[in-house]
Amino acid sequence: MMDRVEVESKHAPPLAECASCEHMLPPGLGDITCEICGAGCRVTHDLTVEALIDEKVPCPHCHTILVAGTDERPIDLTCGSCSGGFTLTPKVIKLEIECPGCDRTLRIRPKPGKRQLNCPACETAFHVTF
Ligand SMILES: [Zn+2]
Ligand SMILES: [Zn+2]
Ligand SMILES: [Zn+2]
Repeated sequence: MMDRVEVESKHAPPLAECASCEHMLPPGLGDITCEICGAGCRVTHDLTVEALIDEKVPCPHCHTILVAGTDERPIDLTCGSCSGGFTLTPKVIKLEIECPGCDRTLRIRPKPGKRQLNCPACETAFHVTF
């Protein structure tokens, strides 16, 4: 019995903005609902879709190269060589934000709306809005 392992996808669509309130939309492709104003937005990005369908992933069990074949993430894949299964998960998008207090670069996962960040180096608290 092999454990189900997760492999992070290498491709992600660029972050999109809500057409009605201009806040960041949750990452993903297709019909996305804005978390701020509730508007439904259709996000498409052909280059990312092609890259996701053609994405080559090494099987984490036997290292055979598999092709994802779909732009859906997460997607469960089964290796043809070793029958091992794994889940190809969406790429985690991180943004770099400069601390206004000490110019240190913080890498954060963007979430729609306003949030407070605390710099781990100088303890400055500041707000960012996506
Ligand atoms: Zn919105
Ligand atoms: Zn395999
Ligand atoms: Zn700082």
